[in-house]
Amino acid sequence: PSKEYEVRRRAIYRGVQENWYFVQQELEKLKKSGRDQSAPEISNLIQEILNSGKEHEIILLNDIQELSNMENHDAWRSTESRALSDLVQRRLHYLQNPADCSKARKLICNLNKSCGYGCQIHHAAYCFIMAYATKRTLILNSKKWRYHRGGWEKVFLPLSDTCTDPSGLDRSNWPGTNETQVIELPIVDMLSPRPPFLPLAIPRDLSERMIRLHGDPQVWWIGQFMKYLLRYQPETQKMLDQAKEKMKFESPVVGVHVRRTDKVGTEAAFHSIDEYMLYVADFFDKLEIKEKIKVRRVYLASDDPSVLPEAKKKYPEYEFLGDVSIAKGAAVATRYTDSSLRGILVDIHMLAHSDHLVCTFSSQVCRLAYEIMQTLHPDASSKFKSLDDIYYYGGQGPHQQIAMYSHKAHRPGEISIEVGDVLGIAGNHWDGYSKGTNERTKQSGLYPSFKAVDKYNIIDFPPYSEVAV
Ligand code: GDP
Repeated sequence: PSKEYEVRRRAIYRGVQENWYFVQQELEKLKKSGRDQSAPEISNLIQEILNSGKEHEIILLNDIQELSNMENHDAWRSTESRALSDLVQRRLHYLQNPADCSKARKLICNLNKSCGYGCQIHHAAYCFIMAYATKRTLILNSKKWRYHRGGWEKVFLPLSDTCTDPSGLDRSNWPGTNETQVIELPIVDMLSPRPPFLPLAIPRDLSERMIRLHGDPQVWWIGQFMKYLLRYQPETQKMLDQAKEKMKFESPVVGVHVRRTDKVGTEAAFHSIDEYMLYVADFFDKLEIKEKIKVRRVYLASDDPSVLPEAKKKYPEYEFLGDVSIAKGAAVATRYTDSSLRGILVDIHMLAHSDHLVCTFSSQVCRLAYEIMQTLHPDASSKFKSLDDIYYYGGQGPHQQIAMYSHKAHRPGEISIEVGDVLGIAGNHWDGYSKGTNERTKQSGLYPSFKAVDKYNIIDFPPYSEVAV
């Protein structure tokens, strides 16, 4: 299939979802106002429309998915996905294993950012992207890592077989010069000047292939850095394999991440388990069109130990996998210990290996699982439901969309857009509308999500012509 075909097919898939978000939310509002006016027959009618509409949406989405598998497109997708990923992985291997480490240009990254596991891994991946873009070997300093005193290499393979020595002739803080042998990176929040290749930028030399292959090339790109970074040590792999076997983790399974404790009220809102389960049910209802489902299995991860027992009690028709003791170890007081590492490794691994993710993208735990998920399928960009944010990367450059259709504001809060307008997107309200700023008119407000698409930030990265295509 051509790039245009693939882009259009995925736009239709998203369009059907957005259309349903819109109609559903409008009908819910109507139902509520009907109830206020004590007109139960109207409420009932609306509920019937909601039920049929939902069924219709699920069947349409299934049809579009089937379309993506036709005429051997699936086979092409997996071959291309493997080829493209191999190319990037070979480039990273080349970058990390210079012929002479004593002469290599290096970038030093200190893992000890004082934040959680997801945040630290994102910090390491930001460093790695900076290293790739400046063609410097990444040296990760992980001494006294808060999640493992022994350091990174006790959990993951070292980033290099030949070059882990941070020394060099001269050393400077970012940005230094091209000739400075060793450059030390600050955390992204302190980075100055900010280069153009920070996420969500994608490399020009691979962009056409990435856009053709993947529904969100920006995340695919991040995923490639995660793929290299997070290569497990055999011990870690064994631990995860055993955990998987013990809990009988099997497809089909939906991964649910419920982030509570210190996050609620500060960086995110509270969401009840019922909100997550609505989308879990959707996933299985859609699957049920194609196959008989014996068990509706859910892997439930949380930092709140009360969630798993509550879910089991409330949803006896589901089988919940998960471990309350992991959730206990994930609570704020015990979080940053060697023993909590096992829990977060297991949880993120299982979430990433689920068939679908339901979570809040405000949490780095779930964003990380989603990024890893992209390395396990040719295109897993639609295998998620976030209850709050759209995907983002901490410290990212501007995320923009481009208007494909014009829109005249006709409700309070809406903004007008014209074809080609650039919109800085702040979020999707999952009710048919996104919020953003029209860079032409400077107006901020709501616009119909289906009328705009992501504007990719395509940037020149080094071509790595030494590495065979
Ligand atoms: P964020 O704060 O949710 O954006 O993500 P971070 O990863 O930066 O920090 C949260 C930390 O809380 C994690 O790294 C874990 O240590 C812990 N945590 C949060 N949710 C979970 C969970 O579902 N399972 C486990 N095992 N730990 C969690």
